[in-house]
Amino acid sequence: MTRVRTAVIGVGHLGQHHARILAGLPDVELVGVADSNPDQARAVAAKLGTAAFPHHAPLLGRVDAVSVVTPTVHHHEVAAAFLKAGVPVLVEKPVCRTVAEADELIGLAAAAGVPFQVGHIERFNPAFEELSRRPIRPKFVEAERHGPFTGRSVDIGAVLDLMIHDLDLLLSLVRSPVRAVSAVGAAVFGGHEDMVNARLEFENGCVAHVTASRITRHPKRRLRVWAPEGYAGIDFVTRKLNLVQQSEEVRRHGLRVDQLDAAAKARLKDEVFGRYLQTLTLDGDRKGDQLTAELKHFVDCVRTGNRPRVTGEDGRDALALAERVLAAVRSHPWDGVADGPLGPGGLPQPAGYLFAPAQLARPDAA
Ligand code: NAD
Repeated sequence: MTRVRTAVIGVGHLGQHHARILAGLPDVELVGVADSNPDQARAVAAKLGTAAFPHHAPLLGRVDAVSVVTPTVHHHEVAAAFLKAGVPVLVEKPVCRTVAEADELIGLAAAAGVPFQVGHIERFNPAFEELSRRPIRPKFVEAERHGPFTGRSVDIGAVLDLMIHDLDLLLSLVRSPVRAVSAVGAAVFGGHEDMVNARLEFENGCVAHVTASRITRHPKRRLRVWAPEGYAGIDFVTRKLNLVQQSEEVRRHGLRVDQLDAAAKARLKDEVFGRYLQTLTLDGDRKGDQLTAELKHFVDCVRTGNRPRVTGEDGRDALALAERVLAAVRSHPWDGVADGPLGPGGLPQPAGYLFAPAQLARPDAA
């Protein structure tokens, strides 16, 4: 297949970028975009010089691959329609609402023998790609993903919206089943949880602390890994990877502080990073954006039939772990007793005000 005919289903906030990028890839034709909001479909189609559809059905039989970027509740219905017709699918994360739905999609893709990719985009972040190429066996991981409230993706909470990125990254890095999950989370605006912290214990001894919040003023997305091989810190926003490892001298002999003379001890603080611990920073910011890399990879898999980097099974496993985190959040007893309020909906009544409402803090003070 030389020219790949594609379409995007759901061209809202993110889908319009899928459509724009696909329209610009070499030997890819954007046959059309579909959106249940016809005005949105028409507006995006007009900008990209393609056809607009109010429903995905007319695109069946006209495309070689589709990208599904509808709200999560519709992923299963739309992806299943294309997979049943033998069309490769890239579906945004989370893969769908339930593990059972994900298993059904995996079965449909296998029966049709076509690539089925899930949009865990951070796997294509250049900083994570650099880390994945290195021999690292994580033993303690801290993941933080904080962002402001956007009013989008309110059909799901912070776990399925944000934390699922880090759950997928952890599963791909640690490569061990998760033995135990505990978590606490709160719904600040009602409905789903807006912030969550989870502790995961893996069977291979790794422990991970994962925090997600969609009500934080200043965005932060980072992953820090401690391992026998050293330390790795990723900033997903700046796409920088910081690596630290023991010097040859420390690997061979350790650092015997008691055997250092007074002058060497005095220099120690300045020499820790450099002489005893070596550091390297890799800047991935000039390597192109990860959505383009993800879509190029998908088109390559469509052409070659190769297995995508992030498979339906990966999407399903991240979703299954997210469901365990959600179950732990729901059963968390706020007052330490099982018959008291349970999170996130049962947050206890506030005991008072942290400051008098009249004394409103300046908006940038948080
Ligand atoms: P959005 O609400 O801005 O856009 C969704 C669009 O889909 C809307 O235009 C809506 O009219 C349309 N739509 C709804 N049901 C449809 C249907 N059955 N058929 C066709 N169109 C339909 O949402 P968004 O923020 O673009 O998110 C879309 C998906 O992308 C969600 O699954 C979300 O979790 C995912 N997402 C992923 C990332 C990431 O980092 N990978 C970031 C943001 C969103």
